[in-house]
Amino acid sequence: MVKTVYLGLGSNVGDRHGWLEEALRRLDAPGLRITRVSSVYETEPVDYREQAWFLNAVAEAQTALFPRMLLRRVLEVERAMGRRRLVPKGPRTIDIDILLYGRAVIEAGDLTVPHPRMHERRFVLEPLLELMPDGVHPALRQPLAVLLAKLDGQAVRRTPVALRSPAGDTKPVPA
Ligand code: ADP
Ligand code: MG
Repeated sequence: MVKTVYLGLGSNVGDRHGWLEEALRRLDAPGLRITRVSSVYETEPVDYREQAWFLNAVAEAQTALFPRMLLRRVLEVERAMGRRRLVPKGPRTIDIDILLYGRAVIEAGDLTVPHPRMHERRFVLEPLLELMPDGVHPALRQPLAVLLAKLDGQAVRRTPVALRSPAGDTKPVPA
């Protein structure tokens, strides 16, 4: 069964734009096809604040991988790209989160889907809403737009630079 999944990507070290593009290329391997990618957002770090600003984006994919296999793919790509967890929540070449796996609600050991903090993060909800404006959070059962409207603070700025993705160059949505 092929599922539609949404992956959150972030980078705040070095060539941030290049890391996001490389992550998309590496994720798009047998069993997973990237179909659409949001605009890129420049965002203020939230948890551990003494670090550089992030670039964040959300990718939509079609996958035949089961959730745990998808998590393995994600962790492999992070590892291949040299992510080291020096400071928890700290600087990272690439962070990849499984935001949504179809409409599934999953609690399986070290895997929680929807991602447990996605509804608190403007840098996730803004790009995700670009791809699914009528999306509903499958666990909270609330529209993503309503969840976003509850957030305040946290600076997020949409950038005009599109990512080159395996799905073809993505066009920035007109503001
Ligand atoms: P965060 O992304 O919240 O800043 P980390 O990326 O350091 O934190 O956390 C990674 C760990 O979180 C992974 O080892 C993985 O086992 C676990 N995890 C649980 N649920 C998910 C999910 N939905 N997507 C990605 N990782 C997850
Ligand atoms: Mg992560």
